[in-house]
Amino acid sequence: MTERAGIRTPYQTKILVVDDEKRIREGCRKMLTQEGFEVAGAENGFRALEMISEEHFDIILLDLMMSGVPGMEVLIHVRSHHPDTVIIVITGYATLEHAIEAMKNGAFDFIPKPFSPQDLRVVVVKAIEYIRTLQDISNEKSRMRVLINHLADGVMATDKEKRVALANPAFLKMLGHQGDRVIGSHVSELVQNERLNEMIDQALAMPGEEFAELTDEFQFEDRAGNPKTILGARCVPFRDRLDRNLGTVTLLQDITTLKKMEQIKSDFVSMVAHEIRSPMNSVLMLIKVILKGRAGHVTEKQEEMLNRVSEKINSLVNLASELLDLAKIESGLIMQEQKRLDIGEILTEQVAFHQTKAQERDILLELIPISEPAFVLGNRYNIEEVISNLVGNAIKYTPGGGKIWVSTTAKENHHCICVRDTGIGMSQEDIERIFERFYRVKNEKTRNIGGTGLGLAIVKSIVEAHNGIINVESEPDLGSTFKVYIPTAIHSD
Ligand code: ADP
Repeated sequence: MTERAGIRTPYQTKILVVDDEKRIREGCRKMLTQEGFEVAGAENGFRALEMISEEHFDIILLDLMMSGVPGMEVLIHVRSHHPDTVIIVITGYATLEHAIEAMKNGAFDFIPKPFSPQDLRVVVVKAIEYIRTLQDISNEKSRMRVLINHLADGVMATDKEKRVALANPAFLKMLGHQGDRVIGSHVSELVQNERLNEMIDQALAMPGEEFAELTDEFQFEDRAGNPKTILGARCVPFRDRLDRNLGTVTLLQDITTLKKMEQIKSDFVSMVAHEIRSPMNSVLMLIKVILKGRAGHVTEKQEEMLNRVSEKINSLVNLASELLDLAKIESGLIMQEQKRLDIGEILTEQVAFHQTKAQERDILLELIPISEPAFVLGNRYNIEEVISNLVGNAIKYTPGGGKIWVSTTAKENHHCICVRDTGIGMSQEDIERIFERFYRVKNEKTRNIGGTGLGLAIVKSIVEAHNGIINVESEPDLGSTFKVYIPTAIHSD
């Protein structure tokens, strides 16, 4: 790497000095060679054109006033045939107009005669900085092109008129495109999928202060109409410094295998859970029969032990049931049976159902009166499960003498169901993990409280399947507030 004149270039910079005055050629050569550049000289325009056709020069110092082929002609030729070469025009005072014309024709700079070695150094340093910037941009572009072209994921960029600015081979392959060049054509010619087109429109229409990644999944079919591939799509706008949308970037990922694996896993879990539940229920029945004394006298000690066995088996049955529920929710089954639901009615039923348990534990469970009708679109069984889980947890994790309030309020396009308790609460770290499957807070306060760690995972899956949101606020020893937002049902069914 050459490092002189404060400039670093990855290879030695080649400079051609074109001037019919030998004194100038030699002077420039001497000074520039000392600076570490490789310097050649041409005594006229004709010779310069010959040399330029044989090898690449980074910089040409070009005298405009030469006999034979005029300097301006050399300049125009270089600009149109060697755009990477930078030209600095050498000119006398009297030919300032020429210098201006030369700049219009694409010269980078000019240096008036006579000039000192320092003057020359300054313009050459400036030219090298310019070359280096151009090289950096072009290297970066080349690196990006190679990277994008070799990605297994599909990438497409559009401008703000929805014209394709870039589409890598993976993108074209995923959409089954084999035809002509797509660059410059309208997205709708390449992307037939309506939703994907819609996502690009949405990304372009996104206001500057907002930034959201739009995501969706699509199933593509083969010619016979059989499901072929499942693609995950992500679409984002890209912006200038003033946050104006310049276009969009769309990423496609082939998630067919992932989806298949998820299905296999979910089927497997359902199968195992189902197979466990039936024999466990039979065992429970048998224990009941023994406890009733139908198989002979049961001593107090035996009764106590059998009760404990029942408890453990019940936990296993619960676990199996919850695993089955989760598998059902994840397979999307629940969304097939949606109705307009009266939240007030469901909350009243659920609070009444849990009242006995709350009273047993000396907890005040209260439903805040609902002032206006609250309707959401959902699956009744699943919405009941959400509320039951949240109220059940509130009872489980609130010590005797505590309070629980259940309420619902209308918010713009959602109904917010709120379950607040004065229970043991939890730390911020736990809050971040309680919706994970099998996660249970482990501390002194929870040590004797049983559970599977699946309840909130189920709750979250159900809420999300209803396009809702769940969040929690909690403070250790002060209590927790769970809020579920479900979109309001607008039309009656
Ligand atoms: P579990 O079967 O353990 O109750 P969940 O998924 O329903 O499983 O809850 C996960 C964990 O979140 C619980 O183990 C408990 O530590 C914590 N948690 C849930 N609800 C509350 C609550 N109302 N107050 C305090 N902690 C709670």
